[in-house]
Amino acid sequence: KAEHTVKDLDASKLTIELTNTPRPVPELNSKETWSCRACSDHMVTVTWLEGKGWQAPKIVPYGPLTMMPTASCLHYATQCFEGMKVYRGFDGKLRLFRPDKNCQRMVISSTRVSLPAFDPVELEKLIKALMKVDGATVPWPDLSTGWNPSGGGVPGLKLLASKNDTRAWPGGFGYAKVGANYGPAFVAAMEGRKKGYDQILWLFGPDYQVTEAGASNFFVVWQSKEGTRELITAPLDDKIILDGVTRRSVLELARTRFVAKSAYLSDAIKELNIIERTYTIAEVEEAQKEGRLIEAFVSGTAYFITPVSAISVHDEEFPINMDAGHTGHYAGMLKEWLMEIKYGKVDHEWGVVV
Ligand code: PMP
Repeated sequence: KAEHTVKDLDASKLTIELTNTPRPVPELNSKETWSCRACSDHMVTVTWLEGKGWQAPKIVPYGPLTMMPTASCLHYATQCFEGMKVYRGFDGKLRLFRPDKNCQRMVISSTRVSLPAFDPVELEKLIKALMKVDGATVPWPDLSTGWNPSGGGVPGLKLLASKNDTRAWPGGFGYAKVGANYGPAFVAAMEGRKKGYDQILWLFGPDYQVTEAGASNFFVVWQSKEGTRELITAPLDDKIILDGVTRRSVLELARTRFVAKSAYLSDAIKELNIIERTYTIAEVEEAQKEGRLIEAFVSGTAYFITPVSAISVHDEEFPINMDAGHTGHYAGMLKEWLMEIKYGKVDHEWGVVV
């Protein structure tokens, strides 16, 4: 066995080749934004060679990849991806939000489709190196008017609960960020959109357990039958949902701040029991019918914290209170806390300056 010769990913071997056609650097506080298809000037590439391991990483001008038509990723979906954002804060500095979590998750996804593992710490170093090269071109956020955690006037998401489609199942790979989880979901998403729904709420099993919504995790705040207030989300144990970085952060903040004697409590914000457990869409419907449903929202890097205004289940739509067009009170607070960290309004270990 020549395993000792198989090299692990090593960010210290990085080489950099700069583009000849750089993007302009936006002026201080300029209102310039990027379209959602815009790409930064450079990208990181690392080659894996069978028997030799990871080769020296490179930063090169952004551009197409070339591959053989026989490449396994095109036939057997041996691929994975990640989604993380960089935020330019109040102080002009760039921050990544908990990048260690995305890098660790990428190893989990990679190995689930039998791609080689790597040290996630090295990947994080490479992402930071890319930020050093391309960071100056990241636009300035419009924090004067854009800072709106309460989301006044936001329409809220309308979700269509999946009836026949199953996104993931125990023993499968729903917890991995592999393309095979996403492509096959497009048909349901497009049908939902035709009917006027923003995302699919993925249900699982004969009892229609609530799992997650589109590319985001799903939370409900309700009054239990016993009269206590609870924040509920599906658990990770069955490995059918993605371990969202925002989901984790919501749970961690809620567990420390929505507790008795917390400075954050008020008449509208009462203490919550934070619960990760399997629950069904029938429980949500029942809570709504009995007036116990307080809020529902999704969490994710793309959708951030967005309230849910309606859910359609078996062709029947029920509305969810959105507090006169505003984000619910709990979702609003969670959103504000996360924005404070992402945009550097508070110093927090989750906001990693690059
Ligand atoms: N669920 C799925 C299926 C997703 O694709 C995403 C986006 N990565 C999420 C949840 C939310 O995860 P995160 O908070 O890490 O963006």
